[in-house]
Amino acid sequence: MADIRRVGVCGAGLMGNGIAQTCASAGFDVTLFEIADAPLKKGMSTIQKSLDKFVEKQKMSPAERDATIQRIRATTDLKELKDCDVVIEAIVENMPAKIELFKSLDGLLAGHAIICSNTSSLCVIEMAAATKRADRVAGLHFFNPVPIMKLVEVVKTIATSEQTVETLFAFARRLGKDPVLAKDTPGFIVNRLLVPYLLYAIRVFEDGLASREDIDKGMKLGCGYPMGPLELLDFVGLDTTYYIAQIMFDEFKDPMMAPPTLLKRMVLAGHYGRKSGKGFYDYGT
Ligand code: NAD
Repeated sequence: MADIRRVGVCGAGLMGNGIAQTCASAGFDVTLFEIADAPLKKGMSTIQKSLDKFVEKQKMSPAERDATIQRIRATTDLKELKDCDVVIEAIVENMPAKIELFKSLDGLLAGHAIICSNTSSLCVIEMAAATKRADRVAGLHFFNPVPIMKLVEVVKTIATSEQTVETLFAFARRLGKDPVLAKDTPGFIVNRLLVPYLLYAIRVFEDGLASREDIDKGMKLGCGYPMGPLELLDFVGLDTTYYIAQIMFDEFKDPMMAPPTLLKRMVLAGHYGRKSGKGFYDYGT
């Protein structure tokens, strides 16, 4: 672990800013890269607000908050990542965009550096194949909200070396996370199990088995889940779930992974859940 000191994060959106914050809180020097100033500013302001909340809740001192922010260097110049020992890619879920970035990073970074993707559903080996360091490429899949959620899936492709996996496990632990190892298949562990469950909840609702409230109450009170499946779908985003389900269905051809008719129609209508103000429930806009 002595070899990881400087961490690069690409993308300052929902996941990227959380990952940058988590790495800086753990004491790493972080370079946060974005394609434009506006999303970079937005990402930095989200980090500031999130750290302010930790201070309000007395989980961090104001001095620690300020030191954490100072450890993050925000930039729109990719070259500033060149001294990083690990770079975590958290840009849009789009393979051509990720491949282009991986190629640029491969040409820029030192030979020992590891490149990771936070992708939820895309093939990590396809990104690794765009580089000359496939043994030093892996998935590092964080969960939202990153500063709070303990799990990180370390995704080993058929080309990732054991040494890379070991380094990433140690790195994840330094971040205060509890890592698990998964193969490079769509959904890894958590979404492979969670997505069919969520899709089945939509089918059950479509069939008129019960009201949305009772389906959610059933799983909360009957199984001890903190959120019911329809509430959780609204939280994750119906568009995101639809997209992941399509990728999983394409790969496995398992009917349980096929997006239900209602999900497709809700996405077409722009009913994405909390983020659009309407999903299975209304949130007011
Ligand atoms: P987001 O849309 O909130 O953020 C993506 C950011 O990437 C945007 O700010 C965009 O400006 C930036 N970007 C786009 N192209 C770029 C480039 N070439 N270089 C640098 N920045 C670029 O998306 P998100 O929800 O943070 O998801 C990011 C990644 O994390 C995706 O691969 C997604 O599958 C994965 N992921 C998402 C979640 C989730 O709950 N949202 C959970 C785990 C993993």
